[in-house]
Amino acid sequence: MLAKLQQIVQRVNAAANLHEALEIIVHRVKAAMDTDVCSVYVRDPVAPQYVLMATDGLNPSAVGKIRMAAGEGIVGLVATRQELVNLANAAAHPSYRYFPETGEERFSGFLAVPLVHFRQSMGVLVVQQRTQRVFAEDEVAFLVTIGAQLAATLSYAALGSAIPPHEPGPAGPIGLIQGLPGAPGVTIGTIVLPSPLAELDAVANRAPADAAQEEASLRRAVGETQQELRASADRMQGRLSDETRAIFDVYILILGQDDLLEDVVARIRSGNWAPGALRDTIAEHARVFEQAEDPYLRARAEDIRAIGRRILLRLLSDVTAAKQYPSDAVLLGDEVSLARVADVPLGQLRGIVCLRGSVVSHTAVFARGLGIPAVMGLGPRDVRAIDGHPIIVDGYRGRVFIDPLPAVIQEYRRLVQHEGRLSAKLAGLRDLEATTTDHVHVGLGLNVGLLTDIDVAANLGVDEVGLYRSEFPFMTRETFPMEQEQYEIYRTVLQAFAPKPVTMRTLDIGGDKPLSYFPTTEENPFLGWRGIRLTLDRPDIFLPQLRAMLRASIGLNNLRIMFPMIGQIDEIKAARQAVDRARRELGEEGCECPAPSIGAMLEVPSALLSIPALSRYVDFFSIGTNDLTQYLLAVDRNNPNVARLYNHLDPAVIRALRGVIRDARRCGKPVSVCGEMAADPGSAILLLGMGLRTFSMSASAVLRIKWMIRSFSSQRAKQVLYRAMRMECADAVRTMLDDELGRAGLGELVLA
Ligand code: PEP
Ligand code: MG
Repeated sequence: MLAKLQQIVQRVNAAANLHEALEIIVHRVKAAMDTDVCSVYVRDPVAPQYVLMATDGLNPSAVGKIRMAAGEGIVGLVATRQELVNLANAAAHPSYRYFPETGEERFSGFLAVPLVHFRQSMGVLVVQQRTQRVFAEDEVAFLVTIGAQLAATLSYAALGSAIPPHEPGPAGPIGLIQGLPGAPGVTIGTIVLPSPLAELDAVANRAPADAAQEEASLRRAVGETQQELRASADRMQGRLSDETRAIFDVYILILGQDDLLEDVVARIRSGNWAPGALRDTIAEHARVFEQAEDPYLRARAEDIRAIGRRILLRLLSDVTAAKQYPSDAVLLGDEVSLARVADVPLGQLRGIVCLRGSVVSHTAVFARGLGIPAVMGLGPRDVRAIDGHPIIVDGYRGRVFIDPLPAVIQEYRRLVQHEGRLSAKLAGLRDLEATTTDHVHVGLGLNVGLLTDIDVAANLGVDEVGLYRSEFPFMTRETFPMEQEQYEIYRTVLQAFAPKPVTMRTLDIGGDKPLSYFPTTEENPFLGWRGIRLTLDRPDIFLPQLRAMLRASIGLNNLRIMFPMIGQIDEIKAARQAVDRARRELGEEGCECPAPSIGAMLEVPSALLSIPALSRYVDFFSIGTNDLTQYLLAVDRNNPNVARLYNHLDPAVIRALRGVIRDARRCGKPVSVCGEMAADPGSAILLLGMGLRTFSMSASAVLRIKWMIRSFSSQRAKQVLYRAMRMECADAVRTMLDDELGRAGLGELVLA
């Protein structure tokens, strides 16, 4: 049973479209369960009805025509109650509704299971039998299990475009895919699929601009791969057993086979670019080995794929260097790495769309820094065929439209224009103070990561850099940057903002910020080796970074160093000692560096409860609400399954923040917020009410927050905070804050 189940799910996941997926389901389930009928009803997102979308056993002409409202018929009942029914004789059930078009009068036994995804009924899966009988427990278990797996797949398919319209009328949301908001803004652009390094399956099809050139690149890549393998084999002489080393000989042999090369060439000539042609050839050759009886031969399939990845790596380094981007590029991928973003010239990047992740993923953080709309967490789907297609990215509502209808494009053009007008209005605030209506001054800081942020941030009129995420330059490289390289980057940042203070956070990798060249495999990375825990364990990484920062501040004196993920007093003590050691050693080398202010991020719950003790070792605090929310609520900040639960307006988070801001002030330590909460105008009212006087955020939020601050009094903000603290859930708080923004004449910020 398990094998049958896996086979069906795999086939469905590989289907080219929803229609094909449903056909596979009905035929395979009917065969696997040996029943007379299998049908799928799918919820029509436009009209709230369940439509017969595929059947094996009922009259095929009924497909697309039979529709049942929620609660209507047995199918509607199952969808509404979200509970299965198992009936010996369907016609005897009080909810039974007969449709003559189906020819179902012949069937008695009836088993229907709901397809539920995130509490929503997506459809109903039904099997029917001629005989009067109740389905057995193992059959029910089988259908329930299939249903559980298919619900998610169905919800990810673009249902709107697959369901035949009920009656001619306004067009449904064609090509609409709902994800999660990543970075605010709307854009209309062209999809670019960045090829992740050496991931054969992720390579998209593309017509070659010049087939002869593609062929030449391929031959060069194969030649270079052969040379590289020979060199590796030589290097390993004496260090690996002959048997292990023989693997290189096998690789070189496979590479030398004409048929592999010629197959790729043939595919290029018939219209695919070299990486796409390579992907198909490698898959075909690997399949031949996979089918072999002999386990040794079967294992050769893995060798073929390993070689494919090596050639691909070489081909892509060619391609990324020469790649031409459209002027309105929207990068779309599983996870769009910073390295891929950095490949696109800044003026040509219009949006970012990721199948994984959420608002606090680093790609989203980064998009906000650049002021580029982003949508995250679209869910797994095959995107290989949409390179170069038009797309609308709605970063406010977290949705995208692929191949949008002209009417949708028109609507979004209007929104883009509205955005432009709002930006023009906000631009008038640049040189004005961030002061409340009752004359309380608020310091505004900037969150930056890449050097490109500096250009974007020019003339924003901020008071400081509240968070420089030093891991970003590490994430855009293929190897660790050495001390001198880091020095040059940090110097540029410190110089760009001097004499304003720049808070540089030490390397915060691990969790959702992996480095491709420093892989760590952990069961639970967010609770694992991340941030300060990792750098304290690796002085060989930590000390060069501290030295580079300290050296970069010579003559500028605007460096503040901050440590991420501090959870224990020992960690802050050890981190401080590391700074002292780096300064001392530099001094011994004749390089005297000014002493920086030292700060800790407050993002781990234990730190929130240790403010008096931590205060003995730091000069300032900065609250990281992104991680703090994740750890307080025990909700992974990147997991789309629990994204609904991740909310910094949860009353528990609000109470914790109020407490920690009060404690830090009592201890006489300045405190700021540098997480996303400070960038959200509604939430910022609460922070203002808590007495927070320094906010740090990405460039795109600065003027919006300034507008809010200039329109509010600190007293009013306090009243709003007290009301929020009496509420029971985040949604109620959000509604109240939206209302407050509207009353203060800031309704235009609500959407954002
Ligand atoms: C935070 O956790 O709120 C924060 C600012 O740090 P990061 O998002 O980089 O983890
Ligand atoms: Mg953090």
